[in-house]
Amino acid sequence: MDEKQELSRFVIDFAMTQGACAAGISTNETLAGGPPSTDLEYVLPGAKSAVTFALPLDDEKIERYLSKQDHAGHQDDNVQTNLRASGLAVLLATYLDQQGHPSYAVAANAVYRKDTPGGMSDFLPDISHRYLAVRSGVGWFGLAGNVITRTHAAVILGSMVTTAELEPTEPLPPDETYCNDCYICFASCLSGMMDVKERTTVTMGGVQFDYAKRRSYHRCDLVCGGFTGVAKNGKWSTWSPGRFPVPKDDADMGQALGKAVMSSWPRPEIEGGFHHPAMPAHRKLNFTCGNCQLVCHPDPDERTRRRDLLFKAGVVVQHRDGSLEAMSPEAAKEHLATLSPEERACYEDG
Ligand code: SF4
Ligand code: SF4
Repeated sequence: MDEKQELSRFVIDFAMTQGACAAGISTNETLAGGPPSTDLEYVLPGAKSAVTFALPLDDEKIERYLSKQDHAGHQDDNVQTNLRASGLAVLLATYLDQQGHPSYAVAANAVYRKDTPGGMSDFLPDISHRYLAVRSGVGWFGLAGNVITRTHAAVILGSMVTTAELEPTEPLPPDETYCNDCYICFASCLSGMMDVKERTTVTMGGVQFDYAKRRSYHRCDLVCGGFTGVAKNGKWSTWSPGRFPVPKDDADMGQALGKAVMSSWPRPEIEGGFHHPAMPAHRKLNFTCGNCQLVCHPDPDERTRRRDLLFKAGVVVQHRDGSLEAMSPEAAKEHLATLSPEERACYEDG
């Protein structure tokens, strides 16, 4: 085994030893022709390769989250797993750097380019973990555009970019994916984020990948951001206590999002959560959705079970102390009727 092969084997082993369920290597050659967020030199001049890995989320906490038994458990797991993914990238980058290969740890989440026309609000990541992950065989694109690994569909991705020359790993065989277009991820999304008909195609290093086209990202900002989250039939919700409508047309999304953010501003704080650079006044955000990722699972029966847990768990309301509680739609209506008009305006239009 030559030095390049040995180092390539080492970096994969490093990630797997620290708890990754999958890891892979991409290079400038295997990423050639990809979108701007596959340009490794954007974060590290002279970069030649990247190591991307997936850390699984806790299944038990996902179950309690989807069934509305426990919000904080999965939220904390998600925050901590993101921290671990960033930390693992730092450890690996530091290790390689000390071995004479300058390297860069890509943060797991919430880093956006500032040099695009709209700046940070364009939400274009420095490096896309997803693209690197599918090209290097960490996982496949599921229909919703999330990366699903052989063993886990609910994962947090991380990457480390390096000047070291590494041997690329191959994409997973497309015919071995367990994504069977069951559309359970679509059914679990209240924002209408994924286009039912159109697909997005990405080509990297001569290999083509595709997933459902994403509509306005403000859809996910509105729902996953926690500003609203009740199903059209009123029977189930995300963990958001908001009930603002989601517009049909993408053109109306910017205005709807701005209005929902302002209206929900006086809501009491929810325990836990995380800081996001797009939130004004250093306000915290909370995980209230993630459904498209959390309902997916390698076992199709488990997917159906998770969808049913979500659909039968009722709707969430917020109490004056900030706590969230799921209840029947009828009980939620009664709860809202006890609020003053000002309090109510934080959650729904009058
Ligand atoms: S839920 Fe998973 S398996 Fe089903 S379509 Fe979505 S990504 Fe594919
Ligand atoms: S996180 Fe929620 S709102 Fe965003 S795309 Fe997934 S299911 Fe839809």
